[in-house]
Amino acid sequence: KERTLGIIKPDACGKVGQILDAIFQSGFKITKLKMCQLTRNEAFEFYQEHQGKTFFDGLISFMTSGPIVAFELMGVDAINKWREVIGPTDSCEARKGAPVSLRARFGKDNQQNACHGSDSLASAAREIEFFFPSVAAV
Ligand code: ATP
Repeated sequence: KERTLGIIKPDACGKVGQILDAIFQSGFKITKLKMCQLTRNEAFEFYQEHQGKTFFDGLISFMTSGPIVAFELMGVDAINKWREVIGPTDSCEARKGAPVSLRARFGKDNQQNACHGSDSLASAAREIEFFFPSVAAV
């Protein structure tokens, strides 16, 4: 079994119930979950790999615009499976190619796309630790 980090982004926080239903129906176990609102510094840190890209400033504004729900999912091949459930980055493309995906159903465009999912074992580990830090020994 594998762990991944998912986020319901600010644009989809009114759809938390439907999205959690879809998560359970896809066979994942939710092992951690919290609602929070990111500060700009936190969003900067979370999306550090995208610094310098044209969409970075817009992404930070969007991700800090309201509450989000972050969760750890567990399941077989959870990283890839969750990315399949959420669908392509651009919700408009998702509606064409993957109409049952969460981004097709609940997102708007290539920025306001409802959900996030870690894209590798390394990013899943980093992102889970970001939202659910393990208590450090003193
Ligand atoms: P995520 O990492 O959030 O799961 P992803 O891996 O599908 O999404 P990335 O390319 O890593 O997409 O981009 C991170 C996020 O930045 C996207 O989910 C989206 O919100 C935003 N984004 C990506 N490309 C664009 C773009 N061209 N214009 C505006 N926003 C974008």
